[in-house]
Amino acid sequence: MQKRSGWKQKSKKDIQEIFRYCEEYKSFLDRSKTEREAARSIRDHLAKNGFSEDHPGEKVFRINRGKEVIAFRKGEKDPAEGLRIIVAHIDAPRLDLKQNPVYEDVDLALLRTHYYGGIKKYQWVAIPLALHGVVIRADGTAVEITLGEADDDPVFLIDDLLPHLSRKTQDEKRLSEAIEGEKLIVLFGNIPLAGAEKDAVKQSVLNILKGRYGISEEDFISAELEIVPAFKARDVGIDRSMIGAYGQDDRASAFALLKAICDGEAPQQPCLAIFADKEEIGSEGNTSVRSSFLQLFLYDVLAGMGIKADEALIRRMLYSSKALSADVNGAVNPTFQDVHEKQNACYLGRGICISKFTGHLGKSGASDANAEYVGEIRRLFDRAGVIWQTGEMGKIDEGGGGTVAKFLAAYGMDIIDCGAPLLTMHSPYEISGKIDIYETYRAFQVFFRS
Ligand SMILES: [Zn+2]
Repeated sequence: MQKRSGWKQKSKKDIQEIFRYCEEYKSFLDRSKTEREAARSIRDHLAKNGFSEDHPGEKVFRINRGKEVIAFRKGEKDPAEGLRIIVAHIDAPRLDLKQNPVYEDVDLALLRTHYYGGIKKYQWVAIPLALHGVVIRADGTAVEITLGEADDDPVFLIDDLLPHLSRKTQDEKRLSEAIEGEKLIVLFGNIPLAGAEKDAVKQSVLNILKGRYGISEEDFISAELEIVPAFKARDVGIDRSMIGAYGQDDRASAFALLKAICDGEAPQQPCLAIFADKEEIGSEGNTSVRSSFLQLFLYDVLAGMGIKADEALIRRMLYSSKALSADVNGAVNPTFQDVHEKQNACYLGRGICISKFTGHLGKSGASDANAEYVGEIRRLFDRAGVIWQTGEMGKIDEGGGGTVAKFLAAYGMDIIDCGAPLLTMHSPYEISGKIDIYETYRAFQVFFRS
């Protein structure tokens, strides 16, 4: 029953193709470190491949508040018979700046943050960080900020205590308490403003922001500024078999989905690609998969095709659809193997991982795919020679995780979780296996063509 390394099944030529695909993937990751940037990268790629935002037609897409994208591709068949849907998410764990972030202490200008999504706080100290996002000024105009990515940009950093002095304050505490949320404070400057008496360093950095971006301290109130790792995506391993990068959860799926929906001639079944935001905080809010943006988009698509859409038709269409909930999974960790039940875990290099269910403990919060549908997906992937494995996330009582599957399953469609296995998942530098990244793309291609 245990699957073997997928690399063994690949020829030299296949491996070249896998590596070529991953070069494109890495460049997508470097351009897409926030949900807004990912939405823009997706928009550009869709537009280049004949998708239109304004005109209803065979290839349509729309962006929800700059953070969520849905794309539709017309098929040979009537959409009322159901769609092929793949959903991935484009938000990733990070540190958001607070709405009143700037202060000065011990001659340093500092920024307060509030973390977003599931992070291990200790992983975010003492690494180079970049600042990405948008500020809405008092007059309503917007300014985009990206700082820390170009080679000559400054980077930012969260200080950590030197080992000589951390014994009581950190070392004797539990790992989860050694760095508290309120201590994720970003170093921002050190030169005081000449002639200023109070908060001279703070005044100096605010002056720089004013000069460079035309923003004042109050403008942070209406800003979404994210602190993300300043690392670029790179090959990992002497054989270059892996990729290290921030945000591969879930942009590994998002990129594969983007490529797959653009590929080839018109499909049999109409296809829908959802690039959702806010998955990492439980799919809450108006840019998540739970907002009515999906239904509104489908109304417009059907109207554009000359079909009179009503609530009942949209519901029937979604009920009859088949879907993949595309999200990454935690691969067996070589040094902490005990958290996995290894007969039902996924491994780096064994292809895309199918999970019949996710959730916590006794499948709580899970969307548990029907055996019939699992059988269908299994046959589909096998027929196309997709390299795949199955896996649950960790031992039953160890924890767990959820995806967007349950929110789409509520429409009644068949849906199953699948995605690439990752090491160091949810860390600032996640590791993927190139073959798994590529097989994810192949699986999505095959699904859209089914
Ligand atoms: Zn995810």
